[in-house]
Amino acid sequence: MKPLTALTALVFLCAIGEAQQDWWMREPIRWLQTNLRETDAALDPAKFVQTVSDFNANVFLMAMGGISAFYPSRVEYHYISPYIPRGHDTFGEVLQQAHARGIRVIGRFDLSKARKDAYDAHPEWFFKRANGQPAIYNGTYQACINGGWYRQKAIEILTEALDRYDVDGLFFNMFSNPASDYSGQPLGVCQCDNCRRLFRARFGRDLPEKPDADYQAFLRDATAGMSQTIRQLIKSKRPAAALVGTSPDIADIVFSESNTAVKRPLPLWPYASSDNVNRARNTYPQKQAINQCQSFVDFPWRFSMVPREEIRTRLWQNVANGGPAAFNIHGTLEQQDRTAVEAARPVFAWLKQNEKYFTGQSSAARVLLLGGGARGFPSSESSYRGLFRLLSEEHVPFATVDNLEWTGRREAELVIAPGEVPKELAHFVENGGNLMVASSAAPPFDMGRVVKLWKDPDGAYFRIRDKTLFPSLKNTDVAFVYGDYLEVQASGPLTFIPPSMYGPPELVHVDWKDTDAPGLILKSWGKGTVAWFPWNLGALYYLHSSEAHAGLLRDLIDRLLPRGRQLKTNAHPLVEVTLMNQGDRRLVHLVNLSGHSQTAYFSAVPMRDIDVQVKGTFRSARAIRAGRDLPLAQAGEYARFTVPALADYELVELR
Ligand SMILES: [Zn+2]
Repeated sequence: MKPLTALTALVFLCAIGEAQQDWWMREPIRWLQTNLRETDAALDPAKFVQTVSDFNANVFLMAMGGISAFYPSRVEYHYISPYIPRGHDTFGEVLQQAHARGIRVIGRFDLSKARKDAYDAHPEWFFKRANGQPAIYNGTYQACINGGWYRQKAIEILTEALDRYDVDGLFFNMFSNPASDYSGQPLGVCQCDNCRRLFRARFGRDLPEKPDADYQAFLRDATAGMSQTIRQLIKSKRPAAALVGTSPDIADIVFSESNTAVKRPLPLWPYASSDNVNRARNTYPQKQAINQCQSFVDFPWRFSMVPREEIRTRLWQNVANGGPAAFNIHGTLEQQDRTAVEAARPVFAWLKQNEKYFTGQSSAARVLLLGGGARGFPSSESSYRGLFRLLSEEHVPFATVDNLEWTGRREAELVIAPGEVPKELAHFVENGGNLMVASSAAPPFDMGRVVKLWKDPDGAYFRIRDKTLFPSLKNTDVAFVYGDYLEVQASGPLTFIPPSMYGPPELVHVDWKDTDAPGLILKSWGKGTVAWFPWNLGALYYLHSSEAHAGLLRDLIDRLLPRGRQLKTNAHPLVEVTLMNQGDRRLVHLVNLSGHSQTAYFSAVPMRDIDVQVKGTFRSARAIRAGRDLPLAQAGEYARFTVPALADYELVELR
């Protein structure tokens, strides 16, 4: 055997390096889920895969088993769709046809429910309501995560499936015990013997009637334990297969959805896809993020579609934030309302033609927004969304993070917190990072003695005392405040004007009394700075879009980015601009949201001559959608170019 030369050794090592990276991180993905009904098991596999291929999807999430098996399973009680043609194997034939065309297949399981024969044989495997009855929905029986359907049969089902089929991944719908059924009816706490015994052993008391903190922990741990068992099974049988799910600690591909719901309170969140993908990719950069664009208006109306431009906007937002385009429809691609499929089709086609740009992207942003909600840091959704929207409108490239794993691993100049601030961020600030907090919750930085929490002060304002700090507010001396304001003993460039008379008109604010109570406190901490608005600026902006509040944030961001912004542009505020790294390229994505109004989406208003400056030195700029090179000039530290025209989306490659 010849010894390896240095060059062949390098090539060999590179090949190993590549092989070690999982397919979902290495390959460009265009994801399609056709959420099949058991009647669809009668489909013609060849024709069906042809429609998937014609749609230009290359990863396909397909019904496999659980509630209805789409293959001839031999596991007892595993219900097989009676619509599978005699002698056929719908899933297996689709898998074979798809693989022959280079399309990867993710098998979909729903292990949360089984049929009556399983319940009759083993009622102890299933969810037991407080009245002793099972939870039945349209003839399916809800299983309990601590029962034998999950603990034994699911393992048998998955073992058979993984032994038989070379799937590229598995996805699990509605895993564990849900809080309510599909109609939104609460199910309460499962009272099965397993749950009673295990809960008593752990907490020394009976199960609560309603979910409390102990029960939440009990259910969470049971779900996590079962998920780990399934993960180990998948990895032992099919090491190259991905586990797809909503639990980022366990999944290889973090799954989310952008959807609408008829009964959900407004306003609609038009940044949903950017939000989901930005968050998942930056919180778990070693994982892929699938954010599925749900085509339909709501679960009870799965055959009526959302507006076409809503579909396209979500897909562009996905890719602009470093995730794949992902699209869902219920049933096959042959829909009764074909508008959503036809809206997504050209996006998928274009992404295929240009697929080299849509893998291995990572955010170049040096401003981080702490994510709120169940998984992130405590804050109200409106506070988080208000700051998210403002950053987008201001064209400040930013990454949303739900954890602090990034500290010491990515370059960050400014962290923005819409709620509580974790103590661990002190190290970031001490080492020269800047922190902006917009919340009535005091950050852990000794910012001054608390005097009083003002709740919903009608008619209260802040006076802008320092016009040098806030050049955007030269014509604005006061800004309104509502919600919670935490008064502390300190001084600052904004001062509080407590509630005063606001009626009748003859008496409006004639009793105004300025105070020294601060509406913004700036404090040096180690090598960094903490800037604290002790009120919920983000939540107010989310609901009211005050230009005064936008100006406060804009000017303070510039103060807290002493090295200057990464990107400057005259783009309209409704153009989302993201800045991504991809190999030796820098990618600038522009998504035009100007067609959105309230719950409507129309064609984006065409825009022209958008001036963009990106910090750094580059030798070429190319508009990929327009298919042309753009003149590039160096202006100080910035590379400057003009995007001649923007319809719904453009991608500029800088090298
Ligand atoms: Zn139970």
